[in-house]
Amino acid sequence: MIAKGKLFVVSAPSGSGKSTLIKALLKDKRVHNLVYAVSHTSRRPRPGEIDGEDYVFVSPEDFRAMIVNGEFLEWTKTYDYYYGTSAKRIMLQLDYGYNVITDVDVVGAKAIRDLFPEAILIFISVPSFKILKERLSRRATETLKDEEKRLAKARSEVAEIEVFDFLIVNDDMEKALSELVEVINTGEGPRAPSKEELWEEFFKC
Ligand code: ADP
Ligand code: 5GP
Repeated sequence: MIAKGKLFVVSAPSGSGKSTLIKALLKDKRVHNLVYAVSHTSRRPRPGEIDGEDYVFVSPEDFRAMIVNGEFLEWTKTYDYYYGTSAKRIMLQLDYGYNVITDVDVVGAKAIRDLFPEAILIFISVPSFKILKERLSRRATETLKDEEKRLAKARSEVAEIEVFDFLIVNDDMEKALSELVEVINTGEGPRAPSKEELWEEFFKC
C-alpha cells in the first residue's frame, strides 16, 4: 500500500512573490517528492506563463462546464476570472504518495481545510502594504484597475491569517525559501501570528 502524501496549501496576497517562491521550491535540491497541483483558470496567461505548467488556461465556458461536471475540489471567481483545483489530479497525486503543494486564495484554503483537515496551510506575506504595491506595479502584468482589486483583496486576506498554520514573510527571498523548505520537510517553521499582530506589521509604513 502506497502511503498518502501530505498536502500543503499556500495563500498570499497577489504580488507577494508566491509564484516566484513556489517555482524556486520545486527546483530546490533540499526538497524531495513534492509536486505542484496546477489549477485551472479562465484568465489569460501572463508573459512567460506556460499552459499546463503555471495553470491550465481554459475559456470561461469550459470552466463552467467543468463546474457542472463536478470536476473541481474547490473553485472561486475572483478578479472576474474563475480559478479551480481539479479534484482528480490532486487525489491521484496524493494517492501515489507525492507531497502536493497548491496555490489558492484564502477562500480556497478554507475549503481545502474542510475537506482535508490534516492539510498544512501556509500564508506568504510581504513586510508591508507599501512593498506589496511596489511589487505589483513593478511586475506590471495587471491594468491599474486589476491592480487595485488585488490590493483590496490583500487587505481582506491579511485579516484571515488565523486560518493558517505558518506565516512566511517574503522580504529576503533566500530566507523565505529556506523557511518554506523547513515547513515542507519538518512540519515546523514560523507560526502564524494573531490577526492584530500581522495587521499592525503590514500597515505600519
Ligand atoms: P504572486 O505570485 O504572489 O502574485 P510573483 O511571484 O509574481 O507574485 O511576484 C511579484 C513580483 O515581486 C515579481 O516581479 C517578483 O519578481 C517580485 N518578487 C518576488 N519575491 C521578491 C522578493 N523577495 N524581493 C523583491 N521582489 C520580489
Ligand atoms: P493570479 O491571477 O495572480 O495567478 O491568481 C489570483 C489568485 O487566485 C491568487 O490568490 C491565487 O492563489 C488564486 N488561485 C489560483 N488558483 C486557484 C485555485 O485553484 N483555487 C482558488 N480558490 N484560488 C486560486
